Amino acid sequence: MTRREFLKTTSVAGAAVVVGQLPWPRLHAAEASAVTPSTPSWVDKPMRWAQLTLVEDDPGKFDPQFWLDYFKRTRSDAVCLSAGGCVAYYPTKVPFHHRSAWLGERDVFGELLAGCRKLGMVVIARTDPHATYDDVQVAHPDWIAVDASGQPRRHWASPEMWVTCALGPYNFEFMTEVKQEIMSRYRPDAIFINRWDGSGMCYCEHCRKNFRAASGHDELPRTNDPQDPARRAYILWRQQRLFDLWRLWDAEVRKINPDSCVIPNTGGGATSSLDMQRIGELAPTLIADRQARRGLTAPWANGKNGKEFRATMGRKPIVGIFSVGVEEPYRWKDSVQSEAEIRLWVADGVANGLRPWFTKFSGVLHDRRWLKPVEDIYCRYARWEKYLRNECSLARVGLVYSQQTAWFCGAKVEDHTLGWYQALIEARIPFEMVHDRLLDAAHLTPLKTLILPNVAALSEAQCAQLRAFAERGGGLIATYETSLYDEWGVKRRDFGLGDLFGVTFKGGIDGPMQNSYLRLETDPTTGKRHPLLAGLEDARRIINGARRVEVESTRPFLHPPLTLIPSYPDLPMEKVYPRVSQTDVPQVYLREQGPGRVVYFPWDIDRTFWDVLSVDHFKLLRNAVTWATNEDPPVTVTGPGVLDVTVWRQKASLTVHLVNLTNPMMMKGPVRELIPISEQKVRVRLPDGTQAKRVRLLAAEKRPRVERSGQYLSVTVPAILDHEVVAIDL
Ligand SMILES: [Zn+2]
Repeated sequence: MTRREFLKTTSVAGAAVVVGQLPWPRLHAAEASAVTPSTPSWVDKPMRWAQLTLVEDDPGKFDPQFWLDYFKRTRSDAVCLSAGGCVAYYPTKVPFHHRSAWLGERDVFGELLAGCRKLGMVVIARTDPHATYDDVQVAHPDWIAVDASGQPRRHWASPEMWVTCALGPYNFEFMTEVKQEIMSRYRPDAIFINRWDGSGMCYCEHCRKNFRAASGHDELPRTNDPQDPARRAYILWRQQRLFDLWRLWDAEVRKINPDSCVIPNTGGGATSSLDMQRIGELAPTLIADRQARRGLTAPWANGKNGKEFRATMGRKPIVGIFSVGVEEPYRWKDSVQSEAEIRLWVADGVANGLRPWFTKFSGVLHDRRWLKPVEDIYCRYARWEKYLRNECSLARVGLVYSQQTAWFCGAKVEDHTLGWYQALIEARIPFEMVHDRLLDAAHLTPLKTLILPNVAALSEAQCAQLRAFAERGGGLIATYETSLYDEWGVKRRDFGLGDLFGVTFKGGIDGPMQNSYLRLETDPTTGKRHPLLAGLEDARRIINGARRVEVESTRPFLHPPLTLIPSYPDLPMEKVYPRVSQTDVPQVYLREQGPGRVVYFPWDIDRTFWDVLSVDHFKLLRNAVTWATNEDPPVTVTGPGVLDVTVWRQKASLTVHLVNLTNPMMMKGPVRELIPISEQKVRVRLPDGTQAKRVRLLAAEKRPRVERSGQYLSVTVPAILDHEVVAIDL
């Protein structure tokens, strides 16, 4: 059954029942055979990308030679140049394709492209289809996006323009013609497409008609509730439409230049609206677009984006866009960040396998302070290139992210993931992100432990895959409502993984809890505490989370290390005393089955950690990973500070990246200066059958002190400013 047929079926019968019987993997299998286009030959070559996005009045004002010189100085080996869409920078012949009003007789795109080709660079052409002009609105009113009240939409930032419909003929016909023209005239290596997936819901005649035909629902949804059958059908139909568009564009440009492709700007983590598994199959390479911090953003956010893409892209090259400016809702597109902030952001991306891509809007520079820092960063990574061509990560821990949980249970799931991410960084545990629809044995083989941060929505098939992982000896850690819903966000009577956790759902969720605690228990038979409580020896109780699932054990458990102290009044102060100081309600369930270990926290420890950042919760999270993994880690790094630690294998080497995030500004990111941290001891396990030939510190440009013991190397790193790499030739 194709997704289109499926959409029709669900609208006829009771959606929840029918939908619940069709797990994602089956839907997916029906469609997968049609895809997987070939990989263009250039894709794996570039390691450092440049992007110059021209503004309309650039032609005649900006100096192309300046940019060509800068690309050369930065040792950029690929570039993305503005070509067409909302503004054409070449003499286009496509009707309604708006030439820059400053273009005259010039061909700015063609001139830049020729210059970059002379430098030996890969060149891709940028298009942006999201906005258009009055002449288009008059001639083709049906190309314009329509709001919920039936009105055509003016552009929110440029009110003389119109917002286009992404799912109708503007993209399917007009933009296809634009791409064909660009590919025929210039044969770029690819066409990059910015903002191609729409600007919110569109209620135009095409969207209404096409949705009705595909889904059987009379009208497009007017609610965001994912349990509304029309909304659920829309979530899937919109994706189907966009993947159809992607395949159409890709096929059309390949007809002209078989060694090319389209690169839609898309993707991300759990809250991303397009299925990352499909994206991972369709795209030979992709651009992770997390340009800079916004609001409260941890300094590891760029690396996280890289991990999320890699979960479905595997070894395909992933490029990380970074902005040189301040990225906040106010969108100062001509601004410049501090050098320290740019360096740290890029370093965390590179440490996590991203190939850097700087982006600059406007060929005329209003502030030149970013030029030298980016040149220095690029020259550094050019020197390290051999050690940045990674073959695989050696991490043994996987953090699962779930788009279906975000789509069908609500986006709040992300805070649980962020809590785990922060804890793993603080614990210096190398880890990968794992997509919840890639839980088959082949994808999980490199991993020893999987973490499920409130992965609420899981199908029976996914639960079976997780059960098989545990049976093969894998460690499993889950929190809160993990598996309490099916893959469509429909609540189950009991956990899908209740047998693994050893518990059954009692029907209630307690919270938000005020002033609740956890009692740290000692096993009366041994007089000892469980290793989960390591580092909390002097504590008798610690704070609880904010919400907990009421559960009951279905198996015999040993003495529980954590028990509940229920909420008691937090005001007036005279009344603040525990009404119940001790219960026998466990707040963690620890099981060993064969070589595998399972940890289930029935409360929102990870979300509360992200919210409150209590060090006691951090210790529990770290210890849970250590206990569940139950093996010597591939790398341990000892010393002060906060480091993002990643470990990689290249063809003839192994690298340990150490990104120094230690900074008073780290949790919001307006880093003023890089602050070096002192000596770190790095202990690495060499892959079986290998020997270390030479060890170097790439940033310090030194050979460090090394001690060898069997398959382990101990390396002393005297100090780290922003980014150090221990490079071990094998
Ligand atoms: Zn539309």
